[in-house]
Amino acid sequence: MADTILVTGGAGYIGSHTTLALLEAGYEVVVLDNLHNGSSTSLDRVARLAGKPATFIKGDIRDRALLDELFASHSISAVLHFAGLKAVGESVREPLRYYENNVSGTVTLCQAMAHAGVFRLVFSSSATVYGEPSQMPISETFPTGVPTNPYGRSKLMVEELLKDLAASEPRWNIALLRYFNPVGAHASGLLGENPNGTPNNLLPYMSQVAVGKLEKLSVYGADYPTVDGTGVRDYIHVVDLADGHLKALQAMATRDGVNVWNLGTGIGYSVLQMIQAFELASGRPLPYQLVARRPGDIAECWSDASLAAKELGWKAQRGLAEMMADTWRWQSANPLGYAD
Ligand code: NAD
Ligand code: UDP
Repeated sequence: MADTILVTGGAGYIGSHTTLALLEAGYEVVVLDNLHNGSSTSLDRVARLAGKPATFIKGDIRDRALLDELFASHSISAVLHFAGLKAVGESVREPLRYYENNVSGTVTLCQAMAHAGVFRLVFSSSATVYGEPSQMPISETFPTGVPTNPYGRSKLMVEELLKDLAASEPRWNIALLRYFNPVGAHASGLLGENPNGTPNNLLPYMSQVAVGKLEKLSVYGADYPTVDGTGVRDYIHVVDLADGHLKALQAMATRDGVNVWNLGTGIGYSVLQMIQAFELASGRPLPYQLVARRPGDIAECWSDASLAAKELGWKAQRGLAEMMADTWRWQSANPLGYAD
């Protein structure tokens, strides 16, 4: 019988693409999502694309009774844990909500997993845990740094608590996947990022400018010590990222304890390079203005992707043009996102 994977946050951006990849690979999937920032429409579309549905449970990772019931009624072999809040600015204004949801929520999930005898967990971490490294590219051997906001600190806290957990009980088998900058959408145009309100991240903001929902892009800082003065990041296609989770799950079957893998492409692009690539993909000019740096931003950040290549046999396949074309297809076909 196929393994059943619990995907927390599976109705969200990365979780929905990963749920699709799991179903396509033959896994059974149970999605737990409170729909705070996700949409059940995304799961309807996943079912359409996969030709079979995931089981959807609307609920919260902080609800221990619900988790106990879920683990009792499904034979879960591993958990992919995407559920969390991710808006940096909001985390500065409402730190307790972030620590409660992201940190306490993970504690409750792990307690329920241990109670049910499920010890394999993949956690959605972030390159933000490296803080501001003095050198690029960033390899997993770099020490973690000081994230600049409560969101980033919640990710680092969860990494630390998961390491403590694995040290206390050898049955735990944990992957910390440090994502660089996920962008793009499924090539069908049916799945994509569905930000609530005005987007904070570069690609959703650019897309909304291109469709006329927002007037122009503010480029935060043109005086960084980078190729053209604007910030440089390692943008990774969300479908490649989803595939990285499948490869991590497979690799974990023969590994113990905690494993850390960067999921990035190993290539950095500046904001101006992103604007140019987006204009090319959309065929539309993208109005922008150069403004002051955004507090908390670092100049550049890109991954050393060689460990995942060596240990997972995983490498991002999709380049910048494809990331942009897929983002644009999604945005133009769904100007209101999932709108439910
Ligand atoms: P998303 O907001 O689209 O998805 C998160 C999902 O979790 C949403 O559907 C939301 O409704 C659900 N959720 C939130 N709190 C919950 C709770 N307490 N119980 C149940 N469901 C809950 O975000 P995403 O971009 O898909 O990110 C997924 C994960 O990856 C997050 O943990 C995020 O911090 C991490 N991550 C994202 C990025 C990025 O740039 N998108 C980068 C690094 C790490
Ligand atoms: N950025 C920008 N304007 C925006 C949003 C982002 O110039 O409206 C820049 C930001 O300063 C950074 C890059 O785009 O250099 C990526 O930002 P994003 O918020 O998407 O991801 P981050 O790496 O900051 O998590």
